Amino acid sequence: MGEKPLTIGVLALQGAFIEHINVLKSLGADVYEIRQKSDLKARHYDGLVLPGGESTTQSNLLKKVGLFDEIQRLIEEGMPVLATCAGAILLSENVVGGERHLATLPVTIKRNAYGRQLGSFITSGSFGTIENVPMNFIRAPYFESVNDPEVKILSKIDDKIVAVQYKNQLAMSFHPEVSEDKRIHKYFLGI
Ligand code: GLN
Repeated sequence: MGEKPLTIGVLALQGAFIEHINVLKSLGADVYEIRQKSDLKARHYDGLVLPGGESTTQSNLLKKVGLFDEIQRLIEEGMPVLATCAGAILLSENVVGGERHLATLPVTIKRNAYGRQLGSFITSGSFGTIENVPMNFIRAPYFESVNDPEVKILSKIDDKIVAVQYKNQLAMSFHPEVSEDKRIHKYFLGI
């Protein structure tokens, strides 16, 4: 008999959540979509995913369905979270070019940092000790600064910080869920 699978909740209000669900399922996790308060209360989660999309829309929807405070509390209490692109903006304590939202991650992030139109590109780089990770940037932000010595910088592309980890929070500018490479999701399940 194998180990009990991890239970992961993927915020499914808006944006690129299906891709995360598929990757996590392929890695053996039990995955549930979180759309309303009762989804969060229905079971114990081992981790949450905040997908890419549009951060302002996602934040407004989180408030509308009453999930905002709940998710903020869970993350503050240590729930592991994987946040990509707009999700990383939601977590960041300071947002250049936008509002602050959950503000659980002590970093400054710059929205649409590569420009709105031409800001989408694919490259590859290291993510901590994982090398040659394909990185899809889609109207992406980058981290201008980390504001706590406990924030670890995991990736830099052209001198810009694009992935960080602070305790239970893993945040990145790019979209690991759209590539074939599952090592970042695997790393997350390890947290
Ligand atoms: N530009 C979007 C925002 O500001 C993020 C883009 C993305 O998630 N791919 O929310």
